[in-house]
Amino acid sequence: MSLSEFDIIERYFSRRAAARADVVLGIGDDAALLQVPADRQLAVAMDTLVAGRHFPPQTAAFDIGWKALAVNLSDLAAMGASPAWATLSLTLPEADDAWLAGFADGFFELAERYRVELVGGDTTRGPLAVTVQVHGLVEPGRALRRSGARAGQQLFVTGTPGDAACALQALQSGDTVAPALLQRLNRPEPRVDFGMALAGTGGAAAIDISDGLLADLGHILDAGQCGATLWIDRLPRSSGLASVQDEAALGCQLYGGDDYELCFSLDPGRAGQLEVLARQQQLAVTRIGVIESQPGIRCRRDDGSLYTPQGAGFDHFRVP
Ligand code: ADP
Ligand code: MG
Repeated sequence: MSLSEFDIIERYFSRRAAARADVVLGIGDDAALLQVPADRQLAVAMDTLVAGRHFPPQTAAFDIGWKALAVNLSDLAAMGASPAWATLSLTLPEADDAWLAGFADGFFELAERYRVELVGGDTTRGPLAVTVQVHGLVEPGRALRRSGARAGQQLFVTGTPGDAACALQALQSGDTVAPALLQRLNRPEPRVDFGMALAGTGGAAAIDISDGLLADLGHILDAGQCGATLWIDRLPRSSGLASVQDEAALGCQLYGGDDYELCFSLDPGRAGQLEVLARQQQLAVTRIGVIESQPGIRCRRDDGSLYTPQGAGFDHFRVP
């Protein structure tokens, strides 16, 4: 028997993943009712995943569900906001039980971990596409804006950018992909706890790396009307990426998107606090450069020579 739209919502999306008291009214009415605390600002972000464009068509349903929420939580992380609620717009070619079960499992595994309640959405038929909107809470004045970078601040990155791009390239050329790299492409870890803690220390500017380190760093620099020197030999490299030829690995690190690590700037005086935080959270945080007043990004080798980047970050509408 085929599933109706309401069967789908009832069977797969009505889980109270977080059982949050601030959800006055969840799925089932014309709109959800949510109680925003009087002393918080609402941080809202939305991201769409389109089959064949944001994930390869053969991607497992679980991974699509996971990633659809993860990329949104990553935006909240980059603001330093605490995740609270989500809505989900799902466009499906057909109502496939096994696919829906896998998708919901992936979505709710992450939702439970970060206490995010799914409070509504929309379900339609068409080519596979998933849009999630997330709502987070942040103390007024504490959000990590892109525009906070200032000359003299140090530049950092979490984790090991480049892994997801390396996995995608291997998939696309039909090569075998190291499981650790594939995991990074299919199940990105949004740096939610780190982003919140960073906002708490009075962090400066932050962005999550979705389109490539150089491109996303560029957004921070534009917003802060400043520039940076990037020490490319110090970019952290995972063991998976270390086995790739050097120039190719560097390309993944500089231009590869989809890692959802955080790139941020911080006053030098906060380096000690940052060290404690990284240790507490057991997250690798690497100093990769310095913010300067001269606009543009200068990529430097450890021997002092300048390196000229050959690529660009991802842009859906760029004409090749
Ligand atoms: P309406 O016609 O009033 O817009 P719908 O029939 O689209 O409502 O949806 C019924 C209820 O189910 C609403 O509360 C809506 O938010 C929720 N909903 C629909 N699709 C989803 C989904 N994919 N995930 C979560 N909630 C959903
Ligand atoms: Mg209605």
